[in-house]
Amino acid sequence: MSCSLAPQRPGMPARQISASSFAEEFDTARNRLTKLDFEQEHKPGHEHEDESPIASPSLSSSDSLTSEEPSPLGSEDGDDDATPFTPMLDPDSDNVADNFAFAFDIDGVLVRGGKPIPEATEAMKVLNGENEYGIKVPYIFLTNGGGKFESERCADLSRQLDMTVSEGQFICGHTPMRELSSRYRDCPVLVVGGEGETCRLVAESYGFHDVITPGDILKANASTAPFRRLTPAEHAASRDLLSSRRRRRRPEVRKLSDIVISAVFVFADSRDWASDLQIILDIAQSRGGRLETRSETFDEGPPIYFSHSDVVWSAAHEHVRLGMGALRKMVETVFEETTGGKKLVTHAFGKPQVGTFEFAERLLRQWRAEKHGLGLGTLHGRSQAPAVRTVYFVGDTPESDIKGTNAMDEKSGREGTEWYSILVKTGVYQEGTEPRYRPRKLVGNVLDAVHHGIRREMARKKTATEGRLLSLDEDVFKKVGEGRMPEIVERVGPFSEQ
Ligand SMILES: [Mg+2]
Repeated sequence: MSCSLAPQRPGMPARQISASSFAEEFDTARNRLTKLDFEQEHKPGHEHEDESPIASPSLSSSDSLTSEEPSPLGSEDGDDDATPFTPMLDPDSDNVADNFAFAFDIDGVLVRGGKPIPEATEAMKVLNGENEYGIKVPYIFLTNGGGKFESERCADLSRQLDMTVSEGQFICGHTPMRELSSRYRDCPVLVVGGEGETCRLVAESYGFHDVITPGDILKANASTAPFRRLTPAEHAASRDLLSSRRRRRRPEVRKLSDIVISAVFVFADSRDWASDLQIILDIAQSRGGRLETRSETFDEGPPIYFSHSDVVWSAAHEHVRLGMGALRKMVETVFEETTGGKKLVTHAFGKPQVGTFEFAERLLRQWRAEKHGLGLGTLHGRSQAPAVRTVYFVGDTPESDIKGTNAMDEKSGREGTEWYSILVKTGVYQEGTEPRYRPRKLVGNVLDAVHHGIRREMARKKTATEGRLLSLDEDVFKKVGEGRMPEIVERVGPFSEQ
């Protein structure tokens, strides 16, 4: 899959090294020494254990970058003189940051009420290379929203952000349900939520072969939900569960109670909470998922999956609106109320479940490889690019975005990918309140979040570079102390040479 990114701004002119001072001459010599060491270590037959020439940022490469240009990101964190990181060249000769990436929630971060948040377009441009370093930063989208094909959501987002969003960088709430289709491939499943028949079609595209909707059940027995009447369009679109066509495939089905629902999937927000609640509860209280039956023990219903559990979300209204998590709570609460205190355990995908973030990390690895060539192939037996070191996750909901990112970071541990949570103020979170789950960084909007992440990487790169310089200084002075100055001069040339 491909992604047309915004045109890249031309990079800054390379700094010309001046030999006007001893310090600069010494730096030049030091860089050459490093380069000589590097070349020697990478001669054929010389096995280098720690670095590959592609993956390793080297001191010599900083010659072509400017250490005197002011940071384009301002001086908030005192990073003005940060040394730019060395980008990796991707197959299209684009400069790509090879060890960090971004992941974004959508509603309340990039879009609100169907309209882009003002800073969102600029934030994407910065990541697409419109920054003074000319680098591109890989990124993906991870939303709890859904109810459409991923391709449709990508088209919507592309239009809203005036850029191209690929399915290869997009996860919505129900995307991970695709992985359950093999388990329920030929079993009847109930799919709930979304506009019209879309979620049925999405589920079928995932590989579920026998998808039943609440509309199908209401069409077969209108008394299931006394206050809901299907519109003529809904009636026509809903399938006849007892039709001769269906019975050719399932001859054992002669009445609704012959149908056994193996699982319930709430793909997207319900459009009619009352009837959907009734039908989900009926199945939860049934004998093993068999329609129109009642269990005596209320503990034999099929599993119920929600694509996420956000109780509220940020929509066009000035106050947050109820989301799927509220329906989930209603299902569990009313189940308990109507069964004399029996507990119903339901399952949720989406954020903040760590499994969803693990899914996202796998997608990001695939996207970095497919789009940017990162992590493809090997050199000297090593991957050409390191695994992503840090993922900056930008979200607006502490209970899903921040909680999930922090949990994922904790699970990854010190050796795994760092998941760094950034909370914005343009959605669910309200400024001045204490977020229930604390982010690593609180910023105003998504553009601030992008700047913060890049600035932090600059600072880390600077620290790493200084560490290497310090170690090299020690090496040079040690050699001088050993009376090996002529050797150094011979290797790097006199200090006055350029
Ligand atoms: Mg959100």
